Amino acid sequence: MLAPPAAGKGTQSARICKLYHIPHISTGDLLRDVCREDTDMGRMIKKQMEIGSLIDDEIMIHLLKERLNKTDCQNGYILDGFPRNKMQAQLYEEMLHDLHKKIDLVILLDLDYETAKNRITGRMLCPNCKHVFNFKIDALKPKVEGVCDICQSKLMKRSDDNEKVFDHRYETYQNETEPLIFYYQDKYPFYKVDSTKSVDVVFMQIKQILERNMI
Ligand code: ADP
Repeated sequence: MLAPPAAGKGTQSARICKLYHIPHISTGDLLRDVCREDTDMGRMIKKQMEIGSLIDDEIMIHLLKERLNKTDCQNGYILDGFPRNKMQAQLYEEMLHDLHKKIDLVILLDLDYETAKNRITGRMLCPNCKHVFNFKIDALKPKVEGVCDICQSKLMKRSDDNEKVFDHRYETYQNETEPLIFYYQDKYPFYKVDSTKSVDVVFMQIKQILERNMI
């Protein structure tokens, strides 16, 4: 799933995974787990994420390979936040070849800069189960303010979810990730979904795409 920051990759991925019983692999979540470790690597990654820059391709490939080798990925998965540049896309294809897997389809969640920036300010994350909430969007509000509906953990604001860092993240998306649209659209089944619509409408569209391409 390709998308600018705050387009709803995490929210939609979680719904798809629940429906199809496949894992949701978010490279952002994998990195946030490493950041919580008290190691040089964890501190280095945290610093990069806080300014909204991409993490080194080699580290990303290593983390992803480790995750994809787990048995729960055998029947497919939703990949959220990867690849983010052309080098990652090429290395990912090599990795898939070695793992005897293939890309079934690519979904672009399309969202303009202004809407994305507005959403960022309301976003809250559960550090435990990774569920995403948004106190500015009715359908995404937690039932109890500041508490995760699913595991009752205290919700957190991501340190990179502020207006200043957002601009750099969006710029990084435009410069590094957006060119992947041209890389993927002629190579694999490719669908663009208007992500300005409500969570339910976007999900319905994604579901229709998945049903049409049922593998
Ligand atoms: P968003 O897409 O909303 O920005 P993510 O959780 O996907 O949120 O990513 C947060 C940060 O994690 C990025 O700004 C970047 O620093 C890092 N990151 C995530 N995925 C990758 C990746 N594939 N390559 C490099 N850095 C990544």
